[in-house]
Amino acid sequence: MYHCNASSPSPWLDLIEALAAGGIPVGEDFPWDLYAHVVCELCSQHSTYHAAYLGELSPVSHVWVIWESGGFTYVMLRPCGAVDPTVNPVQREACTLFADHWPGHSWQFTDMLQD
Ligand SMILES: [Zn+2]
Ligand SMILES: [Zn+2]
Repeated sequence: MYHCNASSPSPWLDLIEALAAGGIPVGEDFPWDLYAHVVCELCSQHSTYHAAYLGELSPVSHVWVIWESGGFTYVMLRPCGAVDPTVNPVQREACTLFADHWPGHSWQFTDMLQD
């Protein structure tokens, strides 16, 4: 199973560039490359919106950005957390996607996300 890997310029890049153009310093060491794009973490067969993980507000509330051609939306979602029951419990890794995601847990992908 492969990642979707759809990439888009990040929704916040315009804002940061506008701040910088307006004379508001964003720091010379701002990691432009790291935040220039978002990459879809869902499986390659999914439909509708793309989704990229942004961060954790709490163990049960993760922030994702989802996007379609119409624009970006920020959402808070429960983590999936599913584990592979066929793997030794000591070596199991919880799925890093959100609950009720399209088929394909994070530990089922055989490729890397393309940053
Ligand atoms: Zn996608
Ligand atoms: Zn999952």
